[in-house]
Amino acid sequence: MTDVYEMLAKHLDKLPASFPATDSGVELRILKRLFTPKEADAAMALTMFPESADTIAKKLGKNESDIEKLFYSMSKKGLIGRSGKEQNKYMAANFITGIWEYNVNNLDEKLIRDVNEYIPQIWEKSWVKQKTQQLRVIPISKSIPVEMNVMPYEEAESIIKKQSKIVVATCICRKEQNMVGHGCDRPLETCLMLGAGAFFYEQNGIGRPISQEEALEILNTGIEAGLVLQPSNSQKPFVICMCCGCCCLVLKNLNRLDEPAKVACTNYYVIVSEDDCTGCGNCEDICQMGAITVEDESAVVSLARCIGCGLCVTRCEFNATTLVEKEESEKYTIPANTIEEFMNMARERGLI
Ligand code: SF4
Ligand code: SF4
Ligand code: SF4
Repeated sequence: MTDVYEMLAKHLDKLPASFPATDSGVELRILKRLFTPKEADAAMALTMFPESADTIAKKLGKNESDIEKLFYSMSKKGLIGRSGKEQNKYMAANFITGIWEYNVNNLDEKLIRDVNEYIPQIWEKSWVKQKTQQLRVIPISKSIPVEMNVMPYEEAESIIKKQSKIVVATCICRKEQNMVGHGCDRPLETCLMLGAGAFFYEQNGIGRPISQEEALEILNTGIEAGLVLQPSNSQKPFVICMCCGCCCLVLKNLNRLDEPAKVACTNYYVIVSEDDCTGCGNCEDICQMGAITVEDESAVVSLARCIGCGLCVTRCEFNATTLVEKEESEKYTIPANTIEEFMNMARERGLI
């Protein structure tokens, strides 16, 4: 008989962000650490489309108040999502981004060890093969040349200024790496949750509501600390992540590739003027992708590694670096919203 955790793993693997099986079964160990058998069974009743407890109860032939109680407690534990104006609809959550991040206050060394064993396998089996990644890279505003017209959804400040609700949450990647002794000293409170996701984070006690002004201050602190700006991959992002190459589950795995620029969703790269470059090395030090090296007193950019974050431009005191927009034919089209992003991911994985 198939065990409930194997069934839940298959269910999660049918969601856009995937949850592939492994030879070691590490994914099942993770589920057992997070879900009771009853919760694992219940989670399989949900899809990515939010539904009320009443609708789910009717579908399952169960009592509405029992379903409400169970799904509310599961959503508080970060095992499923909760949405709607009154936060009274329930939906399945991807494992990443989703269940893992919702458990930022529920980490222990065994869970961290298992997730760190699993993530590179998700990369290899699924994410690296997809065109639509869950996060995209946007350049730091200060690195954008005045003559370049970028869309408002490609600039963090413009995205923030459009929001009526912002919650800041702890970066789980740096937190978990710190807990197992591999972290860095960059800021922890850096994940800016936007819109509907912000309500969920606030009500689940995993984020702190902030004003636009504070969000802009946090953004500047992140940029000062040399973090890469990665909003979720839609024109209406639900999060702006600020990531380092050492801890971030996305950048760390991109860094393992020979040509990360081919996988990252970005429309920019950087070039260096040999005439203006003094070979000071500031750009090499700040780049999170190992994309710049100083050779013979001049910086050289590997276009196969450059993800167009613009950090090096902000650190060059000699105006030797320039952010460049990709040719129209090479540009990545950013999904209009999260539904389109998830549909693209599902299509690329052959699910629809
Ligand atoms: S993706 Fe980036 S900001 Fe988000 S949790 Fe990981 S390192 Fe932190
Ligand atoms: S920071 Fe500027 S001047 Fe210094 S090595 Fe890099 S490109 Fe050259
Ligand atoms: S060279 Fe490095 S720091 Fe500069 S834009 Fe490319 S990835 Fe970012």
